[in-house]
Amino acid sequence: MALSDKDRIFTNLYGTQPWNLSAARMRGDWDGTREYIAKGRDWLIDEVKNSGLRGRGGAGFPTGMKWSFMPKQTDGRPCYLVVNADESEPGTCKDRDIIRHDPHKLIEGCLIAGFAMGASAGYIYIRGEYYNESVVLEAAIAEAYEAGLLGKNACGSGYDFELYVHRGAGAYICGEETALIESLEGKKGMPRLKPPFPAAVGLYGCPTTVNNVETIAVVPTILRRGPGWFSSFGRERNAGTKVFCISGHVNKPCNVEAEMSIPLRELIDRYAGGVRGGWDNLLAVIPGGSSVPLLPKHICDDVLMDFDALREHKSGLGTAGVIVMDKSTDVVRAIARLAHFYKHESCGQCTPCREGTGWMKRVMDRMVRGDAEIEEIDILEQVTRQVEGHTICALGDAAAWPIQGLIRHFRPEMERRIRERHATTTPLAAE
Ligand code: SF4
Repeated sequence: MALSDKDRIFTNLYGTQPWNLSAARMRGDWDGTREYIAKGRDWLIDEVKNSGLRGRGGAGFPTGMKWSFMPKQTDGRPCYLVVNADESEPGTCKDRDIIRHDPHKLIEGCLIAGFAMGASAGYIYIRGEYYNESVVLEAAIAEAYEAGLLGKNACGSGYDFELYVHRGAGAYICGEETALIESLEGKKGMPRLKPPFPAAVGLYGCPTTVNNVETIAVVPTILRRGPGWFSSFGRERNAGTKVFCISGHVNKPCNVEAEMSIPLRELIDRYAGGVRGGWDNLLAVIPGGSSVPLLPKHICDDVLMDFDALREHKSGLGTAGVIVMDKSTDVVRAIARLAHFYKHESCGQCTPCREGTGWMKRVMDRMVRGDAEIEEIDILEQVTRQVEGHTICALGDAAAWPIQGLIRHFRPEMERRIRERHATTTPLAAE
C-alpha cells in the first residue's frame, strides 16, 4: 500500500514546524499516553508484538519480543531502557532528523517503552558529533519534565521514570549495543561477548533493553492508530513504515518515510527524483548503509526494500541508508573507502577483525591502483571469509560483506585494473 501524507508517523521530519512541546501536542504527541500506560505492561508489549514492528537499527529483531525478555522479577535490581542514537552507519542520517525535528515522539516513546519493560530510567546515547541535536533533545526533555510528563508520577501515571542524555565521543563501535553499555558505564567502548544478553546483564549489571531511536519513536503512534494500521503497510514479517535515507547519485537526495517493502526502483524514482542521468546510467546501489551492492539487474527484478527480500539477494536492509552510484563511480575505490572506515573503527579486541580489517584495507588500496596480482583477488575473498562470523560483534561481518559483494559483482573491473597496471609497468612497456 502506498503511503500518503496522513499515514506518515514523522509529520515534522523536515522541520517545517517547531519541535517544541506545544507544537508536538498539536501534531498529536502525548495524546492519551497516561491511558495507554494504565492498560499495563502486558497490553503494551502485546500491541507492539501485534504491530509486527522490528528493530530499525539494522538487526530487525522483533521489538515486542525483545521487550518481553525483560524480567518481571528482578530481586531489587533496577531495569534500564537505553536508546541507541549513536547513528554512524555510512549513508545514514534518519535518527538525526527525528531528534532535531520531532524529539517528543522519541521522549514519549521512551516513557511508554520504559514502563512496558519495567525500567526506572532511560538513557539516550547520542553520537558526539550530533551536538546540535543533543541540545534540542536536552531542551525537549526539560520541557517534558516541566510539564510533568517525565520524572515522579510521569504523565500522572503513578509511575516514576527519569530520562537522561549521554553524548558519545566519536567511536562508531559504540553503536553496538554492548559497546554502548560499556561506554555508558564510563569504560572503553568495546563489545561484550553474548551471552549474557543485556536483558539479563546489561547496564551496571542490571536488566537492560537497547533500542534504536526510530524503533522507540514509532511506538506512541502505533498505540494511537492500532497495531493493525501499522501492519497494513509492508508485507508479512516486514510491516510498517520506515525512514529511508537516499543519497549519492540521485537527483534529489532525501530522508523519507515510506512503506516497508517498497520496490527499490520506486523508492528512488518517487522520492529521490530518479538516478542522475537516468536508470541506464546506474552502476549499483548499496541498499543498507554498507551492505552488499545491488546491480541494475536486481533492481529491474523489483527488489523490495525490506529485511527478508534483501537477505534473499545476499544483501541487507541495515539502517536503510540507500547509497546510489552511477557509472561515474569508481566502485573499487568506493568499497576501499568502506574498508578504510571499518579498519579505522575496529575496536581491536578480536584478532580476525583487528588484523583482518587492516589487511583488507591495505589490499583494497592496492586493488584501487591495480598494484596487485590476479590471484590476490581470491586470497582477499578467502580472508573476508575468515573474518566473517569469527568475531565478537558484527563489525567484522560488516567489513567483509561489501568486499565479497565487490568481488562477486565487479571482479572483471578488478582484473582489468591489475592487467592495465601490469601492462604499463612491464620492462617492455618501460622501454
Ligand atoms: Fe572489536 Fe572488531 Fe571484534 Fe567487534 S569484531 S569486538 S569491533 S575487534
